[in-house]
Amino acid sequence: MRESCPCCKSINSTTLYKVGYTKSPIKEYLDLFYSKGVEYEYLEESYYILNACNNCGLIYQKWIPSDLLALRLYEQWIDPAKMFERHKDYNVRYFIRLAHEIVEVIQYFGTIPSRLQFLDFGMGLGHWCCLAQGFGWVCMELNYRKHELSMLKHQELR
Ligand SMILES: [Zn+2]
Repeated sequence: MRESCPCCKSINSTTLYKVGYTKSPIKEYLDLFYSKGVEYEYLEESYYILNACNNCGLIYQKWIPSDLLALRLYEQWIDPAKMFERHKDYNVRYFIRLAHEIVEVIQYFGTIPSRLQFLDFGMGLGHWCCLAQGFGWVCMELNYRKHELSMLKHQELR
């Protein structure tokens, strides 16, 4: 549980949204996204909570999984074979959306992309960072999943 804003450390925030992970609509999303199967007993009494920092405006998740739960999520709940198979079906709209996100971040900082550095934690297949590098960013990634890390070594990502 985050007790303060991860950006400015303010403890003054407003809860925008809160629902239990075992309740609709979050449960339906988890069932769809984690095709291998979520072990809901790990999520009883846990809530998806979005807070807005009243100091800097950052919107962030208040509840974050422990290292143990995150490892279970990335190594057990996600079926790597289905994830890679799903990747083959991504259409151009997916990549356009990623490019738009990158442009929005660049415009927010109001500088040239090569002056920015980005850390993508939980980077999935690294699409976002690959595109950001194309814009000139320095990208670094952190990921729990062993098989994704071995794949990313071939993409020359850090
Ligand atoms: Zn803040």
